[in-house]
Amino acid sequence: MESAALRSSVPPDRAVPFFGFVAAVAALAVAAVAVPLAGLPARLPELPVAWWVMAGLAVAAGARPLAPQGRGLGSPIYPSICFSFAIMLGWGLGPAVAVQAVAVAVGALRLRQPAWQVGLAVAQYELALAAAALVVGLARHGELAFGGQPRWSAVTVTVAAAGAWFAVRYGLDAAGARLRLGPAAGAADARALLFEAICAGALLLLGPVLLAAAAASWALIPLVLLPLYAVHRMVRASVDHEQLARMDPLTGLANRKALLAEVADQAAAHATRAADGAAERRMALLLLDLDQFKHVNDALGHAVGDRLLVEVGQRLVHTVGDAAAVARLGGDEFAVLVPGLVDADDARAAAGRVALALAEPVWLDGLPLDVGAAIGVALYPEHGDDFATLMRHADVAMYDAKSRGATVSVYAPESDHNSPERLSLLADLRRALETPGSDEITMYYQPQVALETGEVVGVEALLRWHHPRRGRVNPEELIRAAEHTAVMRLLTHRVLDDVVEQMAKWAASGVRLRASLNVSVRDLHTGELADRVADRLARYGVPAALLQLEITEGALMADPRRVLATIARLDRIGVGIALDDFGTGYSSLQHLRRLPVTEVKVDRSFVLGMVQDADDAAIVTSTIELARALGLRVVAEGVEDEATWRRLREARCHAAQGWFFGRPMPGDELIGWLARYRPPAVSGGGGRHRKPPSISGAAGGK
Ligand code: C2E
Ligand code: MG
Ligand code: MG
Repeated sequence: MESAALRSSVPPDRAVPFFGFVAAVAALAVAAVAVPLAGLPARLPELPVAWWVMAGLAVAAGARPLAPQGRGLGSPIYPSICFSFAIMLGWGLGPAVAVQAVAVAVGALRLRQPAWQVGLAVAQYELALAAAALVVGLARHGELAFGGQPRWSAVTVTVAAAGAWFAVRYGLDAAGARLRLGPAAGAADARALLFEAICAGALLLLGPVLLAAAAASWALIPLVLLPLYAVHRMVRASVDHEQLARMDPLTGLANRKALLAEVADQAAAHATRAADGAAERRMALLLLDLDQFKHVNDALGHAVGDRLLVEVGQRLVHTVGDAAAVARLGGDEFAVLVPGLVDADDARAAAGRVALALAEPVWLDGLPLDVGAAIGVALYPEHGDDFATLMRHADVAMYDAKSRGATVSVYAPESDHNSPERLSLLADLRRALETPGSDEITMYYQPQVALETGEVVGVEALLRWHHPRRGRVNPEELIRAAEHTAVMRLLTHRVLDDVVEQMAKWAASGVRLRASLNVSVRDLHTGELADRVADRLARYGVPAALLQLEITEGALMADPRRVLATIARLDRIGVGIALDDFGTGYSSLQHLRRLPVTEVKVDRSFVLGMVQDADDAAIVTSTIELARALGLRVVAEGVEDEATWRRLREARCHAAQGWFFGRPMPGDELIGWLARYRPPAVSGGGGRHRKPPSISGAAGGK
């Protein structure tokens, strides 16, 4: 993102040295060109038609300066330089600087640059031409002639003059930017500088070609407009490309990459301010996540959701003004970088203004949509001095705001769940996963029973981690810590490998059971998991129909489009998909219908209370009906007693799991358990009627 403010403003504390520099450059330019320019009026009558044509075209071309490239030095390139350079080669410095000054002034005014920028640009171009003229003057004795026989000395001198032009022009630009912005100006990145050198080189070296053409006929001169246009298009295409790479296509705001660059720029600028003793040495990174976006998207569709995001982006830009940078990071997540703050109260106030702006409903198609957002704030430099740290801490603060039901939360290291403790837990988990032969992590299997027949139809694989110091780690806590990190991938791979291997062992003992394993939504973002599933099934000779992956409903709904491709592939492989914890998120029925889901698991929070609580019972029974109507299998989890089992049977739930049937157990204990298992009595009151053990196939379900 180009920060316009950063590019064209002069910080007050830098005004004296910078404007001193501008004055010095201007004075030098006047001194360099005064004499040649003074002689110009007398020469005007004798200048040929070719000169007038070039002068006219230079001014016309000057009116369309080429926009600067992303992270280059940032000054426009003037196509008129090809004419002024040709004029300098053909008729000397005086006529060249006159033409160039008019062309640059016209272009700079058209770009609405402030007066000092126009003056500086004119002076820089004059000095660059003077340097080129000096090289030519030092090297030649007679006229530089380009017609007739090849004259290599003329070519060498011309290239050297173009080099001098470039060095002076960009040297002055870099010095000025550094004085104005301090180290924040940085150095132009090498790619951008090369690009500018190619553009300037292409334009300057057209000069001698133009001069040679003019020697034949002035009528040939306008033909150069086409190559000029080509250079123009090249610059435009490159700038567009650069902008697209830094832009969120939906909202036109900056994207993560651009925000990263802006944070780096601003961090350097603020470090300089702090060194200079300025009070406004802090900046705030605001991270916000819309509260209601998912509901809008689900209820009104993606098109409306997209328009809402655009609207919110505009509102943010409008609220924070030009000095701040607004970016969309993806989904309904936005970030705002507010520079020039004095303290945390300033940051809180800025976040408060944003919150207030988002508290107003957004009107779309005559509907007032409440958006609202949780805003996490991280302050530079207290909470981090680079993009990654600031983002992480703003994220922690945002979740803190969400969990407290607050709108704004400023990062507080005490409430950081990303605490050293959590990080050490993750490090231990990674070690346990990467240590060959470690048995800290094992899989337990909980039986699932068909309610109609009482047969065991499957198992759910559940992770168990026995930490050497902490003892048993709660799997939910563990998954929460790992879910947003790279360790999740390792963990899921381990789970998959263990489960498929276990299924093969059971098969060897004559037990054919469907096994479900839990995956996090992140695992589904790439196709890697599907590849691994196919590979492991083939390696162990396990039929795909016996494997099922469970995805939590909430996670799935957060990003259904990204996950869809993987789910569709798994479906093609023949692996089932269960929607876990159904009822706890905000599912859209439309998603249920559209995704190739084979099973719905009713969350245990409803099942546990369904006998006592009529609302829970209503949720469970209507979920069962809905799933049946859509041709899906329904499994209830958390069945702890017989009464619940009976209610579920009456409601025609397909299968159930819970302590009433069996607790999760290690894989090798399952065979013994199956041998002892007696299905609950199908009819009559109390007690369990013992039936012979039943080791079932993958039946049950749909
Ligand atoms: P989940 O997938 O919904 O798993 C069901 C949870 O209910 C398990 O908790 C299970 O032990 C518990 N449960 C089973 N029967 C009963 C019952 O009758 N009463 C009660 N109160 N609870 C019962 P667990 O093993 O603690 O796992 C918790 C969650 O952690 C799982 O919820 C799942 O979301 C996650 N998880 C477990 N293993 C894995 C894994 O390998 N990968 C991933 N990504 N997540 C896992
Ligand atoms: Mg599960
Ligand atoms: Mg569940």
